[in-house]
Amino acid sequence: MDNLSNIGRVRELCQRYGFTFSKSLGQNFLVNPSVCPRIAEQGIASPEYGVIEIGAGFGVLTVELAKRAKKVVVIEIDEKLLPVLEETLADYSNITVVNQDVLQVDLAALIEREFPGMPVAVCANLPYYVTSPVLMSLLERRLPIESITVMVQKEAAERLCAEMGTRACGAVTAAVQYYSQPRLLFHVSRGSFLPPPNVDSSVIRLDIRKEPPCAVPDEEFLFRLIQGGFSQRRKTLPNPLSGTLGRPKAEISAALEEAGLKPTARAEELSLPDWAALARILRRGQG
Ligand code: SAM
Repeated sequence: MDNLSNIGRVRELCQRYGFTFSKSLGQNFLVNPSVCPRIAEQGIASPEYGVIEIGAGFGVLTVELAKRAKKVVVIEIDEKLLPVLEETLADYSNITVVNQDVLQVDLAALIEREFPGMPVAVCANLPYYVTSPVLMSLLERRLPIESITVMVQKEAAERLCAEMGTRACGAVTAAVQYYSQPRLLFHVSRGSFLPPPNVDSSVIRLDIRKEPPCAVPDEEFLFRLIQGGFSQRRKTLPNPLSGTLGRPKAEISAALEEAGLKPTARAEELSLPDWAALARILRRGQG
């Protein structure tokens, strides 16, 4: 019962269950048979793993995860998919479907309840409209997970995996790299989905760090600084940061110099340790 990447099977299920794809829920289902096995293989390190999947669709990735992991909990917002999943996942006793918005789920409690003593990974073909909030909430809450292997829009993948200090990076790059070590695994063309989206996709893997790569006394302040710096990425840092912190540009220039940086530096030129050094110096003056 797992030819779910067959386009004829997907159409047949749509017809039989009267299911129509919702654009606003990012419903583009994978119909390329090689992609889900690759995501599952790269996302699950060994058979003892518990896996959280976000967005089941018809279960095409879910079954590949269930073949390789001890247990899979898949969170799916669309209740219209539940009767379909009852049929498509019927052969697997290690899958639990949770019908909820992933952004409303208490993931710490779910992990404690569903995966006691197990290493946990997240795997998903993410609905693009929630990519950033989902990744940030998984990372910021410091959940006991080992890795996150997800398909995202190609441009987002390139930004998330960019080197800090290069033009491709942004505030989200810094946040993701503070909590994890990201890697771009492979690209997936738009023709691999039904219906095909307007963009290509990539699969990335984030290996969660046990410790942050640089010490800061106040993470919230660090991220406020980074967000502020990238809010006007073409301007030299004293301009946006003076607005963000409500402090004179001269003070920001002096802090940059004290951190060993040029006062004419732009956000995209700084490494994570540079941001951390700047945050430590500017935080001193915040009381
Ligand atoms: N895993 C399937 C596949 O690869 O074919 C479906 C992937 S599709 C890109 C995204 C799925 O996420 C859809 O089934 C959609 O209903 C579900 N979804 C969208 N928003 C969600 C949310 N906030 N919480 C949980 N699931 C969501």
